[in-house]
Amino acid sequence: MNTYDICIIGGGASGMAAAIAASMANPEVRVAIAEKKGTLGKKLAATGNGRCNITNTDCSEYAKTEAFLRSIGIFTREEAEGRVYPYSGQAEQVVSAFVSKLNELGTDIFCGETAVSVSLIASAADASEKGKTGEKNNNVNGQFVFLTEMLSGRTIASKKLIIACGGKASPQYGTSGDGYACAKAFGHTVTRLAPVLAPITLESSEYDGRLLKGIRTRCTAALIKDGRQIAEERGEVQFTEEGVSGIAVFNLSRFLKIEDGETLKEGMKRYSIALDLMPDYEVGSIIRLLIERQKTAGSVNLLRTIIDDRLAKAVLERAAAANLKSTGAKAVNMKTVNISEPCDIEYIEDTARALKCLTYTVTGTGGWKAAQCTAGGISLDEIDENTGESKLQSGLYFAGEILDYDGPCGGFNLQNAWMTGIKAGKDAALDKH
Ligand SMILES: Cc1cc2nc3c(=O)[nH]c(=O)nc-3n(C[C@H](O)[C@H](O)[C@H](O)COP(=O)(O)OP(=O)(O)OC[C@H]3O[C@@H](n4cnc5c(N)ncnc54)[C@H](O)[C@@H]3O)c2cc1C
Repeated sequence: MNTYDICIIGGGASGMAAAIAASMANPEVRVAIAEKKGTLGKKLAATGNGRCNITNTDCSEYAKTEAFLRSIGIFTREEAEGRVYPYSGQAEQVVSAFVSKLNELGTDIFCGETAVSVSLIASAADASEKGKTGEKNNNVNGQFVFLTEMLSGRTIASKKLIIACGGKASPQYGTSGDGYACAKAFGHTVTRLAPVLAPITLESSEYDGRLLKGIRTRCTAALIKDGRQIAEERGEVQFTEEGVSGIAVFNLSRFLKIEDGETLKEGMKRYSIALDLMPDYEVGSIIRLLIERQKTAGSVNLLRTIIDDRLAKAVLERAAAANLKSTGAKAVNMKTVNISEPCDIEYIEDTARALKCLTYTVTGTGGWKAAQCTAGGISLDEIDENTGESKLQSGLYFAGEILDYDGPCGGFNLQNAWMTGIKAGKDAALDKH
């Protein structure tokens, strides 16, 4: 059996930050990290498209993160919207800076080790009983020890335990939600989990993915629930075979929620996405513009150089459908709409409206594999926000995405990982129990 002061399950962003903060706060503590994957920080190396959007200047504790990153030799620069990246723009270098610091501080790193269960010796039964009642398990004489058992058969004993094994998003990087069961074993509540910062899939009878896939366009995307707009994002939207993707869409995916008692299908049907493909113009201006273009451009595609030709087809088909509906026709053969034919004023008006509000019913998200973050997690009510320590079990800490926090794109999720990791590591290093 390996014995430590602090054992950290998960060698990702928050786990590495916790280990470093612990050793910096108290160089005497013996710290171990158990990491499922063959190397530390696999997900961190993939962040920000390999560039690592490491934090954001808008975060309240940005200065602390910046100081911490500098203390381990990470030099950064700020880009648009407060997004901060390593100056080199290389996520791999961020990982290697962390690993070098961990080695310098003497952290014991066990890679390829999957933690499968956690228990307390001497007072394990007591702990689970008290956990159930929500009462904090304070071992008065400080004799309890956490036992973390690995799939390999290795056991790590520690006075403090930091669970930093991430959520369920992108399991290809090792995060398959293992920590929730451990948390529940200590009486913790796990709030509803959902994959977020993910692509949004659209109803295939409305959305022609084969036509639109590969197109990217700068626009405004709004999320509508039960006919009411609940969120809006401006940015580049990417069209895929199944729906839409890109940062704006990722941010909207955070607002897709299923109510209690609803199936995924029922819940999602209440949502739609409305794309405004000319966000800088009002409908009236677009109508005038299109009338003018028709006069001057003649047979040239009405929407060419405004939007992609394939997207124009989708918009004009939508306009044709609306036009026929308003003139009382029962059905429309979408494929027969000729986009370069001269058209009447009603059709121009319908085209302008379709450009401003191209709407599709939502069917879901790309799921856990495509998601960059987990919504929901260990209830923050049960955690001391200043230290990350469990209010139910002394010496037990949580850090990172396993907690009930999810932020938008822009460096906010890594910021959460750094801050919660640092707080947990520092506190665990103090021998107060
Ligand atoms: C493709 C992608 C890009 C992203 N880009 C950004 C970005 O640019 N900016 C940003 O702010 N956020 C980004 N995120 C989100 C961010 O990476 C996460 O929120 C953050 O890494 C969470 O940190 P964590 O320490 O909680 O978990 P992770 O960094 O996921 O680390 C958890 C670690 O625990 C290990 N583990 C899991 N179970 C066990 C077990 N049973 N035993 C041992 N080890 C275990 C895992 O292998 C993993 O290494 C991105 C996410 C993805 C998937």
